[in-house]
Amino acid sequence: MSQQPDGSEQMDLAEVRWASRVNPSTIRRLYEADAHGIVDEELVDEVGFALYARCQSILRVTGAQHGQVTCPRCEAIVARKGAGPWDQPDEVIICSQCGWSVRWRDYLRSYQNKHLVGGGATAMHEAYVEQFANARSPREKMLAIDRLIHAFHWELVSDPGRPAARELIYARNTTELLTFLDRLTYGEGSTPGLRESKAQWKHKVTASPWLRRTGFHPEGWPEPDSQKARH
Ligand SMILES: [Zn+2]
Repeated sequence: MSQQPDGSEQMDLAEVRWASRVNPSTIRRLYEADAHGIVDEELVDEVGFALYARCQSILRVTGAQHGQVTCPRCEAIVARKGAGPWDQPDEVIICSQCGWSVRWRDYLRSYQNKHLVGGGATAMHEAYVEQFANARSPREKMLAIDRLIHAFHWELVSDPGRPAARELIYARNTTELLTFLDRLTYGEGSTPGLRESKAQWKHKVTASPWLRRTGFHPEGWPEPDSQKARH
């Protein structure tokens, strides 16, 4: 275990890296190619691995929020003493396997305001990491990508909440993101299953109270008048 001065030094914080949200234009190109029946393996991997890295960052941050910090050097899990993220900010976290260390408040600051807390979508992030790692063909990867970016928080247990893509794809706000997802290209050549999942997505968007409050409405989809009347 290395001795560190206990001033404001950031210790081994430089080794902590967080993946950025994915560029929407790359995803747009992927859906365009797919709609024309073009299997662009390189593009599938570009999007797929970017989402994979992003999901891993989210799962790591979510673990840290619950007291389980993953060592960026050797991947060991280091348990915090502080109960919640705001307890014991000066606690020094030390990996007993390799000696990596960081002050908790510096680590916490490194991921704040980066949309990295998984909330009600961690089951989807976990599922994607597993599905993408085990996918044998570009089409299987495409289906895993499609499932992930069209998922909603809490949809496995209750009404769909915010879009999981909010933490995954860069957009200025939720409406811009929903518009982007709504306008992805589909066609005769689309990977089987994609158009069906898009129809389900539109249905969820219009049925969810949380999403209706955003004021967004999918293109070419009937207004949910009966539901509106109830609220
Ligand atoms: Zn370590």
